[in-house]
Amino acid sequence: MSVRVRFAPSPTGWLHLGGARTAYFNWLFARQHGGAFVLRIEDTDVERSSDASEQGVLDDLAWLGLEADEGPAQGGPHGPYRQSERLALYRGKAESLRAQGAAYPCFCGDSALEERRRLALAAGRPPHYDGRCRLMAPAERAARLAAGEPHSLRFAVDPRDWVLEDLVRGAVRFPAGVVGDFVVLRSNGLPTYNFAAAVDDAAMEITHVIRAEEHLANTPRQLMVLDALGERAPRYAHVPLILNRDRTKMSKREGGPADPDAPAVAVGEYRRAGYVAEALLSTLALLGFHPGDEREILTRAELLECFTLERVGRSGSVFDPDRLRWVNAHLLHHASGRELARWGADLLPRAAGGLPRAELERWLEGVRGNLATLADLPGELAPLLAEAPAVEPEAARALESAGAGELCGALASELESLAEWSREGFISALRSLGQRSGRGGRELYQPVRAALTGRTHGPELPLVADLLGRERCVARLRRAASDPRNQGGAG
Ligand code: GLU
Repeated sequence: MSVRVRFAPSPTGWLHLGGARTAYFNWLFARQHGGAFVLRIEDTDVERSSDASEQGVLDDLAWLGLEADEGPAQGGPHGPYRQSERLALYRGKAESLRAQGAAYPCFCGDSALEERRRLALAAGRPPHYDGRCRLMAPAERAARLAAGEPHSLRFAVDPRDWVLEDLVRGAVRFPAGVVGDFVVLRSNGLPTYNFAAAVDDAAMEITHVIRAEEHLANTPRQLMVLDALGERAPRYAHVPLILNRDRTKMSKREGGPADPDAPAVAVGEYRRAGYVAEALLSTLALLGFHPGDEREILTRAELLECFTLERVGRSGSVFDPDRLRWVNAHLLHHASGRELARWGADLLPRAAGGLPRAELERWLEGVRGNLATLADLPGELAPLLAEAPAVEPEAARALESAGAGELCGALASELESLAEWSREGFISALRSLGQRSGRGGRELYQPVRAALTGRTHGPELPLVADLLGRERCVARLRRAASDPRNQGGAG
């Protein structure tokens, strides 16, 4: 039987880091086994689900490069892939459970159930359904059904233990009594999560359910439904939670991508803040998965080589935004100009769109060492794109230093008189000027860099000169030379 896994988000919010990691583990597992990665939208909670959220989740998955083989967008042999479009299936399955006595109509209203729950908890009893509609005399049940009284359909739980052989957690025992009779179909005709998920896992021939540990407690309900429907259960792998630094579950109390105490949980926040998908994926995979060696960054290709569920740990892992930032910077520092142009397309300043592609890529390679996130791109590109780049304080000091103005003026003249403009020509002009004026090192380079870029750091000078071109170099050097601030220093 070929492997089939699914990622089953509820479109009630944004894709968060935990969801992204679950999707990635499923994607890796499917790709490793030549199987299918199915995307199923669990949107039966009509009030909390929205199209905007579904679209947001799809966009984030696409950005992460976790394309599904079957799903609402691509279709497939087991569709439709939105639960709201599969209601007839759930109703049919619920009816067959009722017909065989595995489920029964329950007429108890929400407020009565709530009150009984409260009393049970107060008395120290488990807050389970008390079974009164299960025990109802057949005649009364028939009469109330015939009268059209609203009712849900409740699963009649057998008093027996269930043991789950979880691929991450090993054997997990659910003793009889931990689960009370649970609703499979609400009085409004909509299925509950546990019922719809179990029905769909069977109907979609899912072989492995890889999901967050918070669903472990749901699993016995899903096993019961599958068993009652005569379906074979998939294998389950429950992956541990992602935690904040204080070991609380990462949830909505988000600060921002870089806030160490309350890092953002939404994937989109990281995307908008200039993180690259590969950095997020590597960091998330290593929360829980241990490669068994010292590697701190794992590419998709490397994870496809080494990922196994057996090496996913059982305890929660703390998400460290500083680590993510470090991984992100590392990937940016080693990226090609082409990759940077692709990754940064949304964040590149509009003016960069006018640059010839090759020029943009060379500049990106020149500045990559200064990038922590792609959001740094506009600032790093400013010296190239701005007509007159703003001068940072340290650069202003370099321009004000003794002789800086003269140096810039002299270099401008040298560059103007070069027979042919080239990077080599620029370097030799600068060097010979250094020799003649007795300047070297920082003293020589800093004022020139400051004049050309308004900064004291950045890509290597010959590259800067090359990309700016003779005209702009000369104009910027002349401007620096004639600025009264520089005259004062040079005087
Ligand atoms: N819709 C559930 C969620 O978003 C899916 C749980 C599962 O994978 O079974 O948490």
